[in-house]
Amino acid sequence: MAVSRLLNDLNDPQHQAVTSLSQHLLVLAGAGSGKTRVLAHRIAWLIETTQISPWSIIAVTFTNKTAREMRGRIETLLHLDTQSMWIGTFHSLSHRLLRRHWQEAGLSQQFQILDNEDQLGFLKRICKQLQLDENLWPVRQFQNFINNSKDAGLQPQDIDVQGSDQLANQVQVYQAYQTACERGALVDFGELLLRSHKLWLQRPDILQHYQNRFQHLLVDEFQDTNTIQYAWLRTLAGSSCSVTVVGDDDQSIYSWRGARIENIQQFSQDFKHGEIIRLEQNYRSTETILKAANGLIKHNNGRLGKSLWTEDQSGEPISIYAGFNEQDEARFIVEQIHRWESAGNLRSEAAILYRSNAQSRVLEEALIRSSKPYRIYGGQRFYDRLEIRNALAYMRLVNNRYDDAAIERIINIPTRGIGVRTLDVIRQNARTEGSSLWQAAQGIIISSALPARAHNALHGFLNLIEQMATATAQMQLDELTDYIIRVSGLIKHHSKEKGEKAQTRIENLNELVSAAKTFASTWSPAQLNRQLDEEADERPETALAAMLDQAALDSGEQQADESEDSVQLMTLHSAKGLEFPLVFMAGLEEGLFPHQLSLVADGRLEEERRLCYVGITRAMQKLIITYAEARRLHGQDTMNRPSRFISELPQELIEEVRLKSSVRRPLSYRPAVSNPTDRRSQRTNLMETPVLALGQSVRHAMFGEGTVIDAEGSGPRARVQVQFDSQGSKWLVLSHAKLELI
Ligand code: ATP
Ligand code: MG
Repeated sequence: MAVSRLLNDLNDPQHQAVTSLSQHLLVLAGAGSGKTRVLAHRIAWLIETTQISPWSIIAVTFTNKTAREMRGRIETLLHLDTQSMWIGTFHSLSHRLLRRHWQEAGLSQQFQILDNEDQLGFLKRICKQLQLDENLWPVRQFQNFINNSKDAGLQPQDIDVQGSDQLANQVQVYQAYQTACERGALVDFGELLLRSHKLWLQRPDILQHYQNRFQHLLVDEFQDTNTIQYAWLRTLAGSSCSVTVVGDDDQSIYSWRGARIENIQQFSQDFKHGEIIRLEQNYRSTETILKAANGLIKHNNGRLGKSLWTEDQSGEPISIYAGFNEQDEARFIVEQIHRWESAGNLRSEAAILYRSNAQSRVLEEALIRSSKPYRIYGGQRFYDRLEIRNALAYMRLVNNRYDDAAIERIINIPTRGIGVRTLDVIRQNARTEGSSLWQAAQGIIISSALPARAHNALHGFLNLIEQMATATAQMQLDELTDYIIRVSGLIKHHSKEKGEKAQTRIENLNELVSAAKTFASTWSPAQLNRQLDEEADERPETALAAMLDQAALDSGEQQADESEDSVQLMTLHSAKGLEFPLVFMAGLEEGLFPHQLSLVADGRLEEERRLCYVGITRAMQKLIITYAEARRLHGQDTMNRPSRFISELPQELIEEVRLKSSVRRPLSYRPAVSNPTDRRSQRTNLMETPVLALGQSVRHAMFGEGTVIDAEGSGPRARVQVQFDSQGSKWLVLSHAKLELI
């Protein structure tokens, strides 16, 4: 294939970065300047021109989704199967390594990944055992402490408690948690990194093997690497590997998870003989959007400083809409998406970004009301749903009886008469014997230590799992999944739930069978043997174990149905690296964005501003910013001022969207009020006479409380549409409805 094809669509500095012969390379550049593109082209170029094997390249992406995209790009550029290449997140690469070297890393072959939610449940039990009062010692604090310690590369024995009781307590929980994880063969996300790094340090022969193998190491989104990730990179790189990293200090948004922006400066010191290349042309956004982003980020201090420009001279102004409340904000957004579609565009080109996950519910409801399909990245995720977690817990237990977190989850789901007391006895025995819950339960059965009913219930449970394991041993993965969701009683259990929920849960469980089928069709133990026999070692023993790993690693990144044309919803954090023609940023209010917490913590306001910069720079053609004058969130009503970030944008780029017509009507029939379009005069009206505005909260004698979401007509025919909290939306004739303002 002609090398020119790899280089044709690159500007000069991009070309220079792709073909650089320096040992190390740092590409430091603003949003949308082609950093990720450079990385993909550089990999393709290295393979094509230097004749090195794809096998000797390792590339780190920020999410599993971007890893898949990176593979796709390379496959298109080179017509090459990328299976044997190590491309993935820090987590998935570490996991691959530990699968291969489980023994040397001191793990059981059946080790399972413990995701964040299971980690929390697991920690709850440990805190209970240690008799820590949850009110004084919230479990989440321990979870943060443990994860932060791991991100900083610290194990319990590395932490000096310095006479601090609080720290000593935290370390004690960390230690107890660690012991329990080891017993249950469970590895959390932080541990994947920590353990693979430790493996290299303790086994120079293994490290040497990988250092000989990997001649090129490439990292995307480098500004968000944390301490342990950086140490991992440095150790693996050694002295002869060539390292390319790309990043943007203005997009560092994960310091709360331990990311260290300083790693950018550190890189130049640690990786000598490096070249720094800056990319300044933005290919993503209109000039207006770019100017807005530049104008905002200027308010941060201590930046490395970059300038971005675009050839695109055009650009619609940035629209700002002030909703009366969050309902009105959501209604406005949906209406704009409708217009976008009517103009012949795709729904999936529109993304709604928000600061906090909880904001999505109202947006989702508005989309559902107008029958617009949507997808949430990292929100209510398939693998996070209750019924799926239950099913996976059974599957995990069939795969590995020592999985304490799985036992805790489903020992009494469906209800089978194993009460809290029985469970406490099992826990107690496990603790005194230093064994897993499974072993402890077996011991209890043998010694007949329980009353007859509890004994039978527990015995039944242990038999059920053993029987499932035997029955499914020879089954295909989808058959196995189907068998487990039925024989476990989960289908029956969830179908007893009320209303639509049951239906959805059953659908989801059945969807898991489809997921297993798809997974099995791409998985075979022999598949990777093609390239090198060695690759086979890292694969889990069975398709089941592989699928469970995938589910844990993927949790949060993939929705069930990607094919449908649907509106994209996500938090600003998960929008990193992505781009959309139409972008909404919702909820730009003080206290929400910037987030309340950032107003008191050092340096956090600047990080919020960077997050806003990330949001703005996702937009290609049009950016719409919205906020609500009143908002009900987490069950609380607040009236927040518009976000300072709005006033920090260059005002000449902004256009305020006004209501297209007055929607105020008298509450009960009166001669129609004149048509005030000016918001200020409307507000005065509201004070003086009871008038009805979009977003107004009202009470109806029969339907209860609700919010006005639309209005039409005038005089005796004036009607309003009210979204009732419990009765759905209804159109009501004002002169009859007797609505009460609340
Ligand atoms: P972010 O900082 O948001 O991660 P980035 O720097 O990684 O952005 P890319 O996603 O690689 O930027 O590129 C942004 C967009 O610009 C993509 O659609 C990409 O295809 C396009 N692009 C980049 N370079 C060029 C080029 N030389 N010619 C045409 N399009 C380009
Ligand atoms: Mg990128």
